[in-house]
Amino acid sequence: MSHSREAAVTGTVYLVGAGPGAPDLLTLRAARLLAAADIVFHDALVHSDIVALAGKAEKVAVGKRCGRLSTAQQFINKRLVDAARKHAVVVRLKGGDPMLFGRAQEEITALEAAGIACEVVPGITAALAAAADVRTSLTQRGQARSVAFATPRVGTDQAASDWANGLIAADAGAIYMGLGEANAIVASLLAAGKSPSLPVVIVENASLPSRRIRHTTLANLPSLANEAVQGPALILLGPQFAARASVAGAVEDDRCRMQPRAAHG
Ligand code: SAH
Repeated sequence: MSHSREAAVTGTVYLVGAGPGAPDLLTLRAARLLAAADIVFHDALVHSDIVALAGKAEKVAVGKRCGRLSTAQQFINKRLVDAARKHAVVVRLKGGDPMLFGRAQEEITALEAAGIACEVVPGITAALAAAADVRTSLTQRGQARSVAFATPRVGTDQAASDWANGLIAADAGAIYMGLGEANAIVASLLAAGKSPSLPVVIVENASLPSRRIRHTTLANLPSLANEAVQGPALILLGPQFAARASVAGAVEDDRCRMQPRAAHG
């Protein structure tokens, strides 16, 4: 294949999920693509051990950190297109799963418009890692048959009003990028008839040794949300998230991850 042909498209762009944080929650496919990558554009939140798997690749940090826009999306799109015209394997590495709150569609659309091959590699999304950390199933027989993935964060040309509709309709919810807007979340859900005592759990740094888990209720969410939070945090809510005396202490204990639980735990 000649690289001298004008605008010859040679590369494929892989939108790869990096998982929630812990490097060993990466998929084998993601690891294989990183090892083969010529260039990697990665979110700032992705663990350095994962980025390091791209041994021979040029590494470019482009992403957003905790919702702060550090590289304009259109500029990222253009860089992906340009990179695919120069390199065979271009990896766009995103936290969690690319298809949830990851701006993947903008990138896919830009790549398709430029005629560039594009593939998506799923990753473990933060909500699933958070549920694992609190050892509480997102769905539960008799209690929760639907789960909404939601965010109060809006695009610049979007109305903020109806973001909570899905959350209100579902039995349980996982709220991304929500801690900064706890007051608005609580106001929306209470106005829609959710109970002030609805169980809520805040999981910060899910899957990482630095994780913190705090159980609360809908009414008390704002006071907890105002506490210092260092890492990314997810809000889980639903009847199943009531703090269980036997688990509340244990969930913060790392030993529980590797050892079988006592039968009566
Ligand atoms: N595509 C990502 C989400 C990106 S939006 C995914 O599938 O997980 C970024 C938000 O995800 C953060 O504001 C936070 O709400 C959540 N998040 C990401 N990593 C997290 C982690 N390790 N622990 C808790 N929440 C996390």
